[in-house]
Amino acid sequence: MNFDFSPEQKEFRHFVHEFVANEVRPLARHTDETAEFNWTAVKKMGPLGLLGLEVPEAYGGAEMDAISATIAVEELGWGCGSTALAVSAHNGLALGPIVRFGSKELKEAWLPRLATGEGQLGCLALTEPGAGSDLQGGVRTTARREGDEWVVNGNKMWTTNASIADMIVVLCRTNPAGGSRSLSHILVPTDAAGVTIAPPEKKMGLMGSPTHAVSFDNVRVRAGNLVGEEGRGLQQTLATLDHGRISIGALALGIAQAAYEAALNYAHERQTFGQPISQHQAVQWMLADAATEIQAARLMVYWAAWLKDQGQPITQAASMAKLFATEVSERVCRNAVQVHGGYGYSREFEVERMYRDTRLMTIGEGTSEIQRLVIARHILS
Ligand SMILES: Cc1cc2nc3c(=O)[nH]c(=O)nc-3n(C[C@H](O)[C@H](O)[C@H](O)COP(=O)(O)OP(=O)(O)OC[C@H]3O[C@@H](n4cnc5c(N)ncnc54)[C@H](O)[C@@H]3O)c2cc1C
Repeated sequence: MNFDFSPEQKEFRHFVHEFVANEVRPLARHTDETAEFNWTAVKKMGPLGLLGLEVPEAYGGAEMDAISATIAVEELGWGCGSTALAVSAHNGLALGPIVRFGSKELKEAWLPRLATGEGQLGCLALTEPGAGSDLQGGVRTTARREGDEWVVNGNKMWTTNASIADMIVVLCRTNPAGGSRSLSHILVPTDAAGVTIAPPEKKMGLMGSPTHAVSFDNVRVRAGNLVGEEGRGLQQTLATLDHGRISIGALALGIAQAAYEAALNYAHERQTFGQPISQHQAVQWMLADAATEIQAARLMVYWAAWLKDQGQPITQAASMAKLFATEVSERVCRNAVQVHGGYGYSREFEVERMYRDTRLMTIGEGTSEIQRLVIARHILS
């Protein structure tokens, strides 16, 4: 692989970086403190293509290559974890299955509004109170076919974007017999009768990324709202998560880069024992480790994106990139707080928020343990 970005990708990074530096990053603290979603910036992202990163141009999207889409999420992560998670979930988790598996009718009905920012965002509801890592065995939400409709019943947990979304792709059990062909994806508009979105969860971080429990009480949608094939929901979910994991790796990388930059600046400014703390070897080592690990994580994340652009299998590379980049990000943010001393523990300094925000990344879209399980299966097979 040629690890250099193309001139177009470099130009795109510069463009997104400037946008994030002006529109997203200045509001990151406000977003965290108030839990107000940054609609002002997100609405501006539609015309820039950031809400339809991989959506075909024919449906109003930017139809970007995977490396460019990864650049966009990394830069958003650098600016604000909350906003980046919302945009990443919208693109990868909600629009991804429609782009990849949806019928022409569903694409025409939903993609143009969602990809251009004319509508709100989208979300994907897999997790339930009793099912996270084990979706195949645990999903209880059902969709039953009645004439020309699906009737959806059940409860989902931790649905990112639910209160700021027009639609939810819901993982439902369509065959009560169970097994690997018993789940399907059904697209449910958030304004459908019987959909209840609970108040936002009170979380450790990512305060500006609303996460909700959602319940479905005899919700009726058209038969055509089946996304992809009936009975292929598990396989479609796994494929969606393969792509989503590159995105979460990129998001974590962006947060790590921001925390590293903050630590570097602070190390130059803060003086102890008559010299800047950057002159103490213990601090230098934390910075050196951060720079090294970020570099390694970046190579892994973009390697997975490159494989995707080549049309090659990505499951193992995406899991490795997600596992490594998210754990690196946690270490880098932890040490960025350490470099700041007591101030790092204060809400006055942004590394405190970054540490809280990045904590999710080793959990969402498959925990680190599940990534190790996926990688082990591949290397042992
Ligand atoms: C802020 C936030 C946003 C989220 N957004 C979404 C979203 O938009 N859509 C959605 O569907 N979900 C979302 N989730 C849910 C998230 O994907 C799940 O929390 C995650 O997959 C873990 O599932 P769980 O919480 O049920 O943990 P569990 O599956 O109960 O796992 C608990 C612990 O056991 C470990 N474990 C489980 N099974 C194994 C195993 N076989 N081997 C080794 N260890 C194992 C796990 O790694 C973990 O440490 C979100 C969660 C959060 C916190």
